Amino acid sequence: MRLENPVVNQILDAYKPIWSLKHAISLMGWDFETYMPREGTEGRGVADSQLHLLRKDLLLNKDFIGLVESAKLQGGLGDFEKGIVRVLDREITKQIKIPKELTEAESLARIRGNMAWREARAKSDFKMYEPHLEKMIEIKKQIAAKLGYEKHPYDALLDTFEEQLTVDNLDKVFGALTPRIQKILKKLVDSNSPFCKENKLGNSKYDIKKLDDLNHDVLTLLQYDMKRFRMDISTHPFTETMGLNDIRITTRYEGTDFKKSIFSTIHEAGHALYDLQCNPSLSFTPIEGGSSLAIHESQSRFWENIVCRSLPFVQLISPLIRKQLDFANQTTDDELYLYFNNVKADYIRVDADEVTYNLHIAIRYEIEKKIFGEELSVSEIPEFWNDRMEQLLGVRPTKDSQGVLQDTHWSSGLFGYFPTYTLGTLVSAIIASKMRKDLEGYEEDIKWGNFDLIRKWLRLKIHQYGSTYAPKVLLDNNLSEGYNPDYFVTYLETKYLGS
Ligand code: MG
Repeated sequence: MRLENPVVNQILDAYKPIWSLKHAISLMGWDFETYMPREGTEGRGVADSQLHLLRKDLLLNKDFIGLVESAKLQGGLGDFEKGIVRVLDREITKQIKIPKELTEAESLARIRGNMAWREARAKSDFKMYEPHLEKMIEIKKQIAAKLGYEKHPYDALLDTFEEQLTVDNLDKVFGALTPRIQKILKKLVDSNSPFCKENKLGNSKYDIKKLDDLNHDVLTLLQYDMKRFRMDISTHPFTETMGLNDIRITTRYEGTDFKKSIFSTIHEAGHALYDLQCNPSLSFTPIEGGSSLAIHESQSRFWENIVCRSLPFVQLISPLIRKQLDFANQTTDDELYLYFNNVKADYIRVDADEVTYNLHIAIRYEIEKKIFGEELSVSEIPEFWNDRMEQLLGVRPTKDSQGVLQDTHWSSGLFGYFPTYTLGTLVSAIIASKMRKDLEGYEEDIKWGNFDLIRKWLRLKIHQYGSTYAPKVLLDNNLSEGYNPDYFVTYLETKYLGS
């Protein structure tokens, strides 16, 4: 990309090796989760932390900082140029504040903690993992202190995942959201809603090869360009962007409950589309790819839940399902729809339905806030977790693997990450509401497999900009509702209660 401002052009030239390290780190991360033999862990840990340190050195090179500082003083920058300077300035400021020793300590704690967590989860024994979690939290507290914050130490960590996000913002969101979701859940359960009935489709064993074919059929239907995109398999599905023409997702095959695999595929494909539809001239710049985790999650959830769990989409793909899965060949569209949207208060977040999902996040948010506010010690977490599960969802985990050990995030040092899942969900419902106004009858388009207008709307409003704008600015400019939870609550009420 060539821009008008010569200083910003110099920045982009100097950024190439930094971009290349990011490319390599992403590729190694993808490989770690997909094809790397198990014993490669230690070596990969060393390589990963060394490349991160190299990247830090390049970012903190004094000539590079000089260029960014000089660009900050330039007048008349365009939006792309301002975006490039904003993103780099933010990154450099953070890197300066966190000393090298702390970065290294975190890398090491991540590799060791993640291995310990895997074993502890397999044995459902929190005690095995507790010292590692203690260590990681200690490091994160030091990082929060170095980064600095105005009100709450947790704000410093939230900001690393979602620019300018604070405890104040999230207290408002969850304060409004949690009781309203609980009310919807109670109504569904009390009325013995068809959405709550367990469906036998979930118990049928499927042929993995056939489901893989079905997932690829769905991706074809959603118009994914396999020359720029691929799908592999991992335990926990994810999306990794090597660059705007090499975006990879994974899905999961557990042998039963085929909706989990289909919706994992669609969720990750939704993330991928954000980057696939970014303005190609942002390639190799610091602003290629999505604005933030929450905006990213709004894209994955929009496709997963709003588009693909809708009745028109079920009507579109039901012939494909019946073709690939023998046990489903007598199933009606309505049965498939209820199976896809089955609501059940349960232990595991990643398997949760649209109604209960955000209650899981509310609990993680509360715990993280208390940890960094010095209100909860590590040894108290499992009990607190189980109490809150019982209070909010009405189910109490009986073992650590159903509770505190279920997610990998904390072992990888990802504190402040969970809330972005909820924010993404809220934004996805805002998008649906705006889209309904702009594209009359877009549900009809879904039914006929015409996704052109939907993709175009997302590209123009969100995807094309990459991270040119900070998430709050992008939301203000294009959706003007911030993280307003009303749209999501209305969406749930309309869909599940018919009100
Ligand atoms: Mg996601």
